[in-house]
Formats: sequence, structure tokens, C-alpha cells
Amino acid sequence: MNKNMLYRSIPKVDILLEDETIRELIERYSRDTVMEAIHIEMERLRKFIGECEDEEAAKEQTELLTTHIERTVAAMHTPNMRTVINGTGTILHTNLGRAPIGTEHMRRLSEIATGYSNLEYNLEEGRRGERYSHFEKLLCKITGAEAAMAVNNNAAAVMLILSSLAKGGEVVVSRGELVEIGGKFRIPDVMEQSGAVLVEVGTTNKTHYDDYESAITEETKALLKVHTSNYRIVGFTESVDIDELIPIAKKHEIPVVEDLGSGVLIDLSKYGITYEPTVQNSIAKGADVVCFSGDKLLGGPQAGIIIGRKKYIDMMKKNQLTRALRIDKFTAAALEMVLQEYLSEENAVKNVPVLRMITRSLQDVTKDAKKLCELLQEKGLPARIELSACESQIGGGSLPLERIPSMAVAIHPENISVAELEERMRHLPVPIIPRVVNDTVLLDVRTIDERFYKVIVEQLKEMDVLE
Ligand SMILES: *Cc1c(COP(=O)(O)O)cnc(C)c1O
Repeated sequence: MNKNMLYRSIPKVDILLEDETIRELIERYSRDTVMEAIHIEMERLRKFIGECEDEEAAKEQTELLTTHIERTVAAMHTPNMRTVINGTGTILHTNLGRAPIGTEHMRRLSEIATGYSNLEYNLEEGRRGERYSHFEKLLCKITGAEAAMAVNNNAAAVMLILSSLAKGGEVVVSRGELVEIGGKFRIPDVMEQSGAVLVEVGTTNKTHYDDYESAITEETKALLKVHTSNYRIVGFTESVDIDELIPIAKKHEIPVVEDLGSGVLIDLSKYGITYEPTVQNSIAKGADVVCFSGDKLLGGPQAGIIIGRKKYIDMMKKNQLTRALRIDKFTAAALEMVLQEYLSEENAVKNVPVLRMITRSLQDVTKDAKKLCELLQEKGLPARIELSACESQIGGGSLPLERIPSMAVAIHPENISVAELEERMRHLPVPIIPRVVNDTVLLDVRTIDERFYKVIVEQLKEMDVLE
């Protein structure tokens, strides 16, 4: 085999640049991008010829050079971050972007974001406004708090609260509540960053009223309660509820701060979910400052919402850190839209995707699972496809013990292994992330929006994923 001849058959760059397809690519993208793709593909082709022992294959690759350049340019312009189909049944999947935003909310959001908006402009008075104004009143109305604001995420909220209220002082917290949330967010570390000194009281399983009382000194600036949202201490346990802390805090004129984590605004026990303390409940019991995530059980954009007494919220709004932690216009707009849904519980459950998924009845999920299952069965794929009962999880560190009865479509491939199928599904144009249990690929229908059924069926059929 004459490798020299093969190398010589690779077209020169100037010749390639005359090619119709390449010229169109340059027109559409840019000369630089296309040149980069040409160099990448030529290098790959030379390497292929160098290693290849099959002359026909080498010739074929040379002929495909333009096509490969085209593909490489297209890939350079395809966003790496894209839609995936969540078949895991984990509703707040941290790796898959936690809470999805409703399509109607997103449509209105894109209108705001593609133009100018009154983000920080008071239209009534024609002067500078506040970015929190769009949702502050709503939050107060829904939760009963005096004032509200929001920062980038709840980790930032905890940091801002402690920095504003307790920098250089002490904050008392129970050893049973020294939470690590994941992604290395640890309450003790955040406190250190904020400049507050942590005073731990009690033990892992038991903290008493007296523990708090005897820990309070001249230096104490706040009492902190952290909701153990992602784990439960069960058995011989005792903790001090927020309403019991209020009187001691009042006596010493210090605020009680509660980090609720999940921040649920409606009582989910009505829908068969374990009762999770609501934000309203904390405020009603007398917490001075409460913070929670925007994209956990609330089902909104990523944010750390802070509510409570006006004098404390004002201190935070004035803190220099706020400038670094502030939310952007997307978040401000999305928060307002999502919170408006909460003015009626019925609307919230219907229009906030996270709540809709959590509260969907098993009957309803089963009906949809049957639909997806039949669509797949009709295609005659080389696999056994059937309904399979399963359990969904809330995820995102919320309600860790909760399991919601659900229905999945189970796929048992005939020609390939389950591990192989899982991998291929991950590499589809719209990747499908299934749950793999006992050598079965499950698609939990609770977390799959109906608009994806066709995409799933077509991808599994057309791509021969199962062959
Ligand atoms: C999740 C959580 C946080 C962190 O919230 P993010 O919005 O993810 O930053 C903080 N505290 C508690 C108790 C949490 O559950």
C-alpha cells in the first residue's frame, strides 16, 4: 500500500477553500472557525492514514474530509449544555438542573430578557427602583413576613445573613444541625466565611433548651436553626423547636434565624407527602429571619430567598456582600412569576412543574406510562418493554426518606446489555437518563413531560439504539 500516494491525495488547504461546501461554511460561520476545523480534520486524516492498513478505508476517509469538516464546524456551534430527558424519577435532580421552569413562565421570561425591563426602575415615580420590589410584596403576602429579598442561592443567603447580623460575634447552633448539603456546602464553613464564630451546643442526637440558654454570652449575635433537610436523626433524639427559642432570644435581644433549606410554601401532607415545615409556619412561630432555596420544593429559579423582620432585611440589603451575591434579571422575573402562582394553591400545584410532578396521582402517572409503553411496543424494537411499578424520589436534599409510588416503562434489551443501553441512551441527541435497577432500564414517567414521548420513541427507533 502506497502511503505517500495516499498522503498526496489529501487536498491542499487552498483547494479546500475553493470547495462550494467549505465556502458556504465560511459564509455561515467564520473563516477562523472553518480553518480550525480544517486543521483538526486534516490532522485526524493524516493520523488515520498513518495507522491504517486498508487502502480502501483510507481512500474513503479522504473522500469524507469535507463532510467531516462540516460536522466539526457544526459541533463547535452546538451548545454543550442541552435538554436531557429525566427518566430517573428524582424530581429535584441536582445534576440535571433541579427545578424545571414552566414553559409558559419561560415564554414570558424570554420576552423580558430579550429586551429592556424595569429591573431597577420605578415606573410609578420615574426613578431608580429596587430589583427585589418585583417579588417582595408577594413573598410577604404569601409568608406573612415583613420584608424579603433574594440572592444567588441559599448558601449565599446563609452567608449574607450571618455576615449582616453576626460578623465578629457568636452564633449558637445545635450539633444536631451542622449540616453538609452537598457540593461541600457545610454550615460550619459558611459561618467561618461570614466572619461569625460558631458556638456548638448539645450533641448530635439531643439538644435541650438549657444548652442554648447557657451558651448565650455578651458576644452572641443570633441563634441559628438549620432544618436537617437531607437527613433524619431518628430514635433517642431531642431538639428545641423554634417557638421555644423565641423567648430566650427576646430576653437577650438577639434574632432567631432559621435556614429551612427546601422552603415549601404549601402543606404537602394533603397530597400524601410527609409533612415538611412550611415557611409560613416558621414566620408564624416568630422566626426573625428565614431563608430557603428558590429551586428546591418551591420549584422556581435558583435563588436564596430571605424573609423576616424589616430591620434585619434592611441590614442585609445594605451589606456590601449583597452586591456580589445579588440575583440577575432572569431570576427576579422568574421568581415573581412562580410566586404569583402561589397566590392560589390550585394554580401552584397545576403550573409549577415540581409541584405538579410531586402531587401527580399514581393513577395519572400510570395512564401516561401506558401511553409511552404502547408507543414503544408498537415500534417492534428488539427489547421486552413493559410497565413496571417503581418509586420516585423528591431529591435535591429534600424529604430524604420520601418515596412516591410511581410507574415506569421497563426496557429489557435483547441484543445488548443493560449497561450498554444506558450508555447509548446518554449519547442520544436528546440524551435520556434512565434509572437502572436490577438489570433493567427504567423510565420513571413521573419526571418525563409528555412532550418528550415522541422524542423517546423516535430516538430509540431511528438510532437503532437497541441493535
Ligand atoms: C439545600 C440547602 C442549602 C443550600 O441551598 P442552595 O440553594 O443549594 O444553595 C442550605 N441549607 C439547607 C438546610 C439546605 O437544605
